[in-house]
Amino acid sequence: MQENQFAELKLTGSLPSPAGVGLSILQLTQSEDFTIDDLSRTLQADPTLTGRILKLANSSAMAGARTVTTVQEACMRLGAGSVRSLALGFTLVAGHRSGKCRNFDHDRYWGQSLALAVAAQSLAARNGGVPAGEAFTCALLAHIGRLALASVHPERYATVLETHGNATMDRLAEAEHDEFGLDHRELAGAMLEDWKLPATFTWTVSVFDRSEWTEAERDDTSRALANIVRAAWQLVPALTCADANDADACKHAFRSAEAARKTLGWTIEQLEAVHASITQDYVEWGKLMGIPVARALGLDTLARRAAEAQTERAVVGAAPSLRPAAPSAPTSTAFLTPGSGLKVLVVDDDPVLLKLMSFHLSRAGHTVFTATNGKQALGVALAQVPHILVSDWMMPELDGVELVKALRRSEEGRKMQVILLTGRDEESRLLEAFEAGVDEYLQKPFNPQILLARVRAGQRVVQLHQQVERDREEREQQLAQLAVMTRKLQVAALTDALTELPNRRFVMQHLENEIVRSKTVKLPLSVIMIDIDKFKSVNDGFGHDVGDIVLKEVASLLRRSVRSGDKVCRLGGEEFFVILPRTNLDGAVEVAERLRVACAENVIRKGAFQRAVTLSLGVAELDAVSATVDALIKTADVRVYAAKSAGRNRVVRFGDVSQPTTNPQRAAG
Ligand code: GH3
Ligand code: MG
Ligand code: MG
Repeated sequence: MQENQFAELKLTGSLPSPAGVGLSILQLTQSEDFTIDDLSRTLQADPTLTGRILKLANSSAMAGARTVTTVQEACMRLGAGSVRSLALGFTLVAGHRSGKCRNFDHDRYWGQSLALAVAAQSLAARNGGVPAGEAFTCALLAHIGRLALASVHPERYATVLETHGNATMDRLAEAEHDEFGLDHRELAGAMLEDWKLPATFTWTVSVFDRSEWTEAERDDTSRALANIVRAAWQLVPALTCADANDADACKHAFRSAEAARKTLGWTIEQLEAVHASITQDYVEWGKLMGIPVARALGLDTLARRAAEAQTERAVVGAAPSLRPAAPSAPTSTAFLTPGSGLKVLVVDDDPVLLKLMSFHLSRAGHTVFTATNGKQALGVALAQVPHILVSDWMMPELDGVELVKALRRSEEGRKMQVILLTGRDEESRLLEAFEAGVDEYLQKPFNPQILLARVRAGQRVVQLHQQVERDREEREQQLAQLAVMTRKLQVAALTDALTELPNRRFVMQHLENEIVRSKTVKLPLSVIMIDIDKFKSVNDGFGHDVGDIVLKEVASLLRRSVRSGDKVCRLGGEEFFVILPRTNLDGAVEVAERLRVACAENVIRKGAFQRAVTLSLGVAELDAVSATVDALIKTADVRVYAAKSAGRNRVVRFGDVSQPTTNPQRAAG
């Protein structure tokens, strides 16, 4: 893009620009010598902005740190640079919530931008290397070029979006270039530079949504930021997909999330956890910014819907729609549908030959790109990723064989079918060409019919490659879906459906492990068996539904009342069980007593039911008598029984299987 082009756009006065406090901050921070105090004072003029900055400073991405309550503290935590960028970003959102471009949905635009920002912030906080606040702002503004085009050229951009609104970002950028002489990436870069945002931002916004880009000659910070925003971009479909009925969107979202997972080198479990936490953050941010945000489906639902979509399709036999709805994250291969034309790149330094070949190939229905030397061809090949390359051998700059060698080093280049045009002099060196990676050759002067026949043969190879690729992707995806579902099943098998506490099966497994561990590290281990008193009377008097609510309330109270290392489980019925690692009998009795009191004081209200329930608790420590899972549970059980006999609502710590307690006086509590 030319510099004056941007200047002209600016002169229209329609480019999105910060207003109010955003503008003041921009002006204040143009000078290098502003202080945090100046910054906080300016910020405080806008309470909404202040709230958002505090929210970010206290967000989960900064987990572990103390809660900050003043703008000044927030500025210190986030850094003046980040706060400046944030203020800018937030005032831009506030000022550009609607516009005249009929095919540009502002809510959806900001929804996506916010999803991108929240994801980038979260990834930055996990990966380190880039301040989370910077990742947030850069991502929030990453597609500002699209908003700008919609603001400056509402009519013309609407036309572009009509045909390319659902295309990949590469295609959209091409169409923008054709229409305006510049694309959203260049424009975003120029705007961010104009606002004096860091150069790392400018570069990131110009590359993150490309299907291909080179990192060469970039510093580590730029690369780190761009990679984070790119991975976040791949996560966006999975953060904005809220409709389980839209099977294609689910499938696209899941695929895209899988791509992100690979980019990040994560396990499925890591991805699931991060996805869930970003989804939550995203909803909260949506509320804070007043941007309509629907809670995304969980990754397991996306996986399931994607799998179902696949099966339905296999049954119906319909062609898959590979064009994702929006946003279109980069996909690796442009699949061919049988019978469609190919993308062919023709390279020759002889303009007449070039024209001739283009003519025949275009007439046969192929899309033809041309280049007049090897170097130019390499650029076109990497940008357009043609299926077939037809290249002359002897050319200036980079000859045909060198071109092929260079291409074969890239992943996309390895998939292309290469036909080399040879003159008489080169026949003797054909072996060299094949070794470099050429697939076929064609003697000059060439016969157009033979050229087309070779291209058709190449097309069959390309289709085979694609079938293999598609099968592989499908298999990988199925494996990933399977892993997600298997894990869900495993979790479900160990969880009680009513209270969502771990169930009896979990207790048996987990307690076994804890016993082994406790014996190895020579630290105590205790358990508490809990039974609700006279629970049957709740069911009988108020109905089973109320009984269920009481169970849930008690479960939640118990869970809230123990330390994070302790495990509260539901054994079944109205019996609960707590496992307390590194705790001796005295310590466990203390916990049990606390649980007893908490429950007895907690009035549960549901319709006519308005009272607290009480608990009988039996405490046991791992020792010579209670040395196995069964023995430990049995001892605790006997003590619960003792508590019942002693009058209920109490904790018992004495008595075991060998000496049944009959003496209520021995009961404590
Ligand atoms: P005690 O003080 O002696 O423990 O008396 P109790 O009434 O609590 O003991 P009992 O074992 O006689 O009754 C337990 C009741 O818990 C019987 C059963 O119907 C009820 N129950 C078990 N599971 C559930 C459940 O999931 N939901 C509801 N609502 N009730 C359940
Ligand atoms: Mg019972
Ligand atoms: Mg009971």
